[in-house]
Amino acid sequence: MTPQCPICKGQLKNDKIREEVWVEGKLLVIDNLPAKVCVHCGESIVDYPTMKKIENIIEKFKHKEIAGTKFTAYEIDAKAAALA
Ligand SMILES: [Zn+2]
Repeated sequence: MTPQCPICKGQLKNDKIREEVWVEGKLLVIDNLPAKVCVHCGESIVDYPTMKKIENIIEKFKHKEIAGTKFTAYEIDAKAAALA
């Protein structure tokens, strides 16, 4: 079965997205996240491991374990490995 957009049932394609999250008054930007994006309405869907990764980086940011507000998915992996 071809994956469909949960909003409009459009076709999903693999893409890279930018996630922007406000954390304690600061805008955290995570670039290059793998996601499925609807070609019709632009809705983006990240998978569970990617979602956990985003949560992880937000937690580390809150606890000031990481500095800066702009990351790429690759940097997140590297930082997560370094802090593990
Ligand atoms: Zn859609």
